[in-house]
Amino acid sequence: MKKALKCGSLFCPQSGSVEKNVVILIEENKIVALQSDLEAIPDSFEVIDLQNSFVTPGLIDAHVHTSSSGEADTLAGSTLSTPGDVAFTSLRNAQLDLYAGFTTVRDAGSTGFIDVALRNAIARGDVTGPRMKVAGIAMGSTGGHADSHLAPHIHDTLMPDLCINGPESARHAARYNLKYGADFLKFMSTGGVMSLGTTVGAQQLTADEIAAIIEIAEMYGVHTATHAHGTAGIKAAVRAGVTSVEHGMMLDDEAIDLMLQKGTFLTPTIIAAERIIAHGEAGGIAGWMVRKAQQVLANHKAGLQKCLERGVRISFGSDAGTPYNFHGRQGYEFELMVSFGFTPVQALTAATLTNSRLLRMQDSIGTTEPGKLADLAAFSGDPMTDITAMQRCCFVMKDGVVVKNTAQ
Ligand SMILES: [Zn+2]
Repeated sequence: MKKALKCGSLFCPQSGSVEKNVVILIEENKIVALQSDLEAIPDSFEVIDLQNSFVTPGLIDAHVHTSSSGEADTLAGSTLSTPGDVAFTSLRNAQLDLYAGFTTVRDAGSTGFIDVALRNAIARGDVTGPRMKVAGIAMGSTGGHADSHLAPHIHDTLMPDLCINGPESARHAARYNLKYGADFLKFMSTGGVMSLGTTVGAQQLTADEIAAIIEIAEMYGVHTATHAHGTAGIKAAVRAGVTSVEHGMMLDDEAIDLMLQKGTFLTPTIIAAERIIAHGEAGGIAGWMVRKAQQVLANHKAGLQKCLERGVRISFGSDAGTPYNFHGRQGYEFELMVSFGFTPVQALTAATLTNSRLLRMQDSIGTTEPGKLADLAAFSGDPMTDITAMQRCCFVMKDGVVVKNTAQ
C-alpha cells in the first residue's frame, strides 16, 4: 500500500529545522521520497492530509516502565498483581505511549520478562504497540534500588534473586537477562527516589561490578543504561563505559567532562521527580519518596543547563509508570525540558535523532529520510512557539500503518 502524507510543517532533526509543505511518500513500511510539490502526487498513493498539523519523526521514549501505571503506592501494585495482570497492564501502557506519538520505547526494567513477551507479541503483529527495546530485569545490589524491600519470607517467594554482590554475580545477572531476551542491560549504580531505605545519592554498585556488567554487554553487542543520581555512581559508570546515564540529577563538572570524553548519553527524566513533588503526600505518595525527589530535582536544572552549554548528548526519557507519571502523558516532559532551558528544537531532537543513536537504530528510525521506517507522529499546534502542542498528538503511523488519526 502506498501513502502520501501532506505535511503543513515537518520537523527535521538532522538539520534542526522545520520544513513547510512537504509530502512524504511511503511504500509498505518505508519512506521512499520527500517532495515539496503538494499537488503532484501519483494516483497510486492514498493521500493523508496533515496540512494543519506539525509532523515529526515517530517519537522515541528512551525510558519507560510498561509494567507500572503511575500508581502512588508502587508497593501495593507489585505485591497484589499476578503476572497476568502485569502483562495486560503492560500492553495497555505501551499502547498509550504509542497513541501519544511514541512509536518506539525503551523499557528500562519490567518484571518476569513480561517486557520481552510484549516486545515479541508486538513484533509478531499479534497486538498493536510501539517498537520496543527492553531491559528485562533491572540489576542492582542486595538492598539496592532494584531490590524489593519486602519482608524476607515474602521477598524470597516473589522475587527472582538477580541481586549483584561481586563481579561474578554481576556477570551472572547480565547473562541471565540476555538469555531471556533483553536488548540492553540496565543496572542501578546508586540509590533511588522510589526505593525505601536507600540513600538517593549513594553509590550501590562497585566499580568492578559495573565493569563486569559492561564487559558482558560488549561481548553480546548490546548497550547499557544505568540508573544513577549520585555523583560518585554516575562517574563510576561513565568511566566504565556505560552508554546512558538515567536521571543523572546530581552531576558535577567532572562528571560532565567524563560524559563528554566518553560520548555518554544523559536521559534527564525531569517529569519523574516533578510529578512526585507535584502530587506529594496529599496524593498518597510516601513522605520519604517526596523528600528524595525534592533533593534530586533541586540540583537538576543547573546540571542540565551546563550539559546543554557543553554539548552532552541528551536523550529524551520520561520514566513513565512512576507515581502520577502516566503513560501517554509523557509529552509533558517536553514542556519541562523547555522550562529548564532547552529550545523546542533541542527537546524534539532528543526524542528523535539522539534517541535513535542511543538505541543504535539510527539507520531505521529517528528522521524522515528515504529508506527509513515509516514511523511518524503529528501534533495539533506549533511546538516551536507553544511546546504544549507535544501533548496533543493527533496522528500516529508506525511501520507504514496508521494507528491513530484525529487530525483536522
Ligand atoms: Zn526508571
